Amino acid sequence: MAVTSSYTSWGRVLRPEHELLPLASRHAALPALPDGSATMLPYGNGRSYGDSNLNPGGALLPGRQLDRFIAFDPSTGVLRCEAGVLLSEILRLVVPQGWFLPVTPGTQFVTVGGAIANDVHGKNHHVAGSFGNHVRCFELLRSDGIRRVCSLTEHADWFAATVGGLGLTGLITWAEVQLRRVANPFMVTESIRFRSLEEFFELSAASEADHEYTVSWIDCAFGGKRLGRGLFNRGNHAPAAMETAWVPRGLAQGGDPHTRTVPITPPLSLVNSLSLKSFNTLYFHKQRRDVVSGMQHYRPFFYPLDALLEWNRIYGPRGFYQYQCAIPPERALKATRALLEAISASGMGSFLAVLKQFGAPASHGMLSFPMPGTTLALDFPNQGPRLHKLFEALDRIVLEAGGRLYPAKDGRMGAALFKAGYPRWSEFTSYVDPRFSSGFWRRVMEQA
Ligand SMILES: Cc1cc2nc3c(=O)[nH]c(=O)nc-3n(C[C@H](O)[C@H](O)[C@H](O)COP(=O)(O)OP(=O)(O)OC[C@H]3O[C@@H](n4cnc5c(N)ncnc54)[C@H](O)[C@@H]3O)c2cc1C
Repeated sequence: MAVTSSYTSWGRVLRPEHELLPLASRHAALPALPDGSATMLPYGNGRSYGDSNLNPGGALLPGRQLDRFIAFDPSTGVLRCEAGVLLSEILRLVVPQGWFLPVTPGTQFVTVGGAIANDVHGKNHHVAGSFGNHVRCFELLRSDGIRRVCSLTEHADWFAATVGGLGLTGLITWAEVQLRRVANPFMVTESIRFRSLEEFFELSAASEADHEYTVSWIDCAFGGKRLGRGLFNRGNHAPAAMETAWVPRGLAQGGDPHTRTVPITPPLSLVNSLSLKSFNTLYFHKQRRDVVSGMQHYRPFFYPLDALLEWNRIYGPRGFYQYQCAIPPERALKATRALLEAISASGMGSFLAVLKQFGAPASHGMLSFPMPGTTLALDFPNQGPRLHKLFEALDRIVLEAGGRLYPAKDGRMGAALFKAGYPRWSEFTSYVDPRFSSGFWRRVMEQA
């Protein structure tokens, strides 16, 4: 029987009521829609920021109920599991056996189904592409009861629609992923201070050949001479020869990390223009030298935010938005500068601002977000109409530069920007399950 419950996404701006439809097992048919709900939508672990994982007024399929491992071959690194298994659960199983995720987003608390449906990217996009590039196959269950095993060669069109397909093509019940080898759980890392956007682009170009992972923190609090400054992080998995060189204390292989939780939601956002400027200045100067090298466990390297559980509460009861865009290479410098100028002048950004170069590997999904060029991602405390005015200015810059916004992070983009950024949207519509929908989809398709 369906239960009504209020569900939210990571940004915590919306808390709509949903009917919850239990999933008995991966072999069972999809539950029937309850009276009053026209559509359903799979819900992974709620780490999308806006409304692409919400279906206000409709039903949700709680994907985490499908949480079983099916097969793992430690000689080939091929893993088959149900779609509700978390990336953190995969890492716990495979790292001690010398394997790692081929691509991982900045949190390990996402499901395999969610990683496919948003075709997520990581710090290694320039060499590995996005998550879907490493998915060998998956099963897609439609509301008419049809099951299809999809891959690049079998039902290839359904594969392309479902990778990055925002959960709209049906329920992924299980998936098979090719993992990549590692010698140990450690990373060899460098953090390099840069003082301008030009320096960021030079560092990116110089790092890509020899570093599997690159990502930068960018200071969005200041304009003028300080505009575009930040810290460039690059790294590689540590080679076997360094295995015993240094094991961080208290972080046993495969053990649980020490985490803390933000215990309450403060009545107001703790992020404001004053706290931002002070914090960013301290952070930019946190390392005494311009270049700091080291060795780290993979968890603080890939998932620094996961150490503070429910950190999204710091933005207070009104929640927050993330704005993430991708800009093609030929316009990247000019457009990124224009975006940062608008953001710093508004004083509304937050500490969490990330800049990264996407590389050439093409994604398989019709609606995959990554494209060659530069991606900028920033959190903004929800400040109502003032913030939306800033977003409109940012949208104009992105549109003019031929860029696009990331649906996984979005809770407000309009139809025109979506359609311009995702020219295959019209082809995609024929793969949408007639019983599936989301708040995001109705908005960008201008459906009532
Ligand atoms: C701290 C943080 C850092 C992040 N960093 C990155 C990053 O570096 N790169 C990046 O790309 N993303 C990043 N994200 C976004 C996140 O990776 C994606 O939003 C991801 O898709 C969330 O997965 P989820 O399991 O929580 O699914 P949800 O957010 O609940 O759902 C995501 C989508 O998947 C669909 N879905 C879920 N399960 C299934 C299923 N079984 N079958 C079909 N569809 C399904 C849903 O309908 C929805 O459309 C980050 C998020 C956070 C909170």
